[in-house]
Amino acid sequence: MKILSTAREMQAFSESLRNRGQKISFVPTMGYFHEGHLSLMREGKRLGDCLAISIYVNPTQFGQGEDLEKYPRDFERDSSLVEGVGVDVIFYPESTEMYPEYYQTYVTVEMVTQNLCGISRPGHFRGVATVCAKLFNIVKPHVAIFGKKDFQQLVTIKRMVQDLNMDLEITGMPIVRETDGLAMSSRNVYLKENERDSALSLSRSLKIAKKMYESGVKDAFAILAEVKKFIDGHPYAEIDYAKICETTTLRDIDRVERDAVLALAVKVNKTRLIDNYVFGDVLNI
Ligand code: AMP
Repeated sequence: MKILSTAREMQAFSESLRNRGQKISFVPTMGYFHEGHLSLMREGKRLGDCLAISIYVNPTQFGQGEDLEKYPRDFERDSSLVEGVGVDVIFYPESTEMYPEYYQTYVTVEMVTQNLCGISRPGHFRGVATVCAKLFNIVKPHVAIFGKKDFQQLVTIKRMVQDLNMDLEITGMPIVRETDGLAMSSRNVYLKENERDSALSLSRSLKIAKKMYESGVKDAFAILAEVKKFIDGHPYAEIDYAKICETTTLRDIDRVERDAVLALAVKVNKTRLIDNYVFGDVLNI
């Protein structure tokens, strides 16, 4: 397994693979791996001849007062985990490599970043789109794999790739959960034991929504009312948003017909958790 830390080295490596007709798959990450990350990598392994991943805690997607400094990092653990999955190359840059002095170019994806996390985390998706555009230019993948856990991120990246005619395919993978239903996240390490039940209010409320939908309730407000009531009944849970949106535009909708997603962001004490359910999909809880 190769570990490359400069854009030039990575680009040269990818170019040589491309010249040999190899298909490059790519999983961008911020590290501190769990099964969710590894599931994307296994899919990447299946989709390409060479699997590249990146590990980079991207400062431009963190807002003031967010957890950039304390975001968990463990490169040794991560690299041994991914070696087991068969990753061929890790791109592991320093911030000076990604954002050198005088850096001033950013990618803004407009409408789909304006709702949900775009409201509570201003500038977040500008950072995400920018770093992904850069990583795509550096790694030159044929296909990149993202998790549906970060639903708005996946929609944003798909939009950017289409709008900017980027020559790669974007694939989304299902949310991987703990056995109790909690969506896996590197941030789950922040949760204390007494906060677990409140953290589970997200996935459990998705289950409530699914049940209502399947029993014929199509009114988004009725579903959201139950979801919010349930989450609010937990001592450490504070709802940032609970919304039902159209899956490609991410605009709020009143009726759950088809192509609708229930998206949640909830603060459990200081830990901000997200989760979602696309109506009609399987909910693996
Ligand atoms: P992160 O390291 O948090 O930036 O995540 C890297 C990639 O892993 C993103 O595409 C995430 O959507 C994906 N991911 C994170 N958690 C999960 C999960 N529980 N299930 C599936 N994919 C996930």
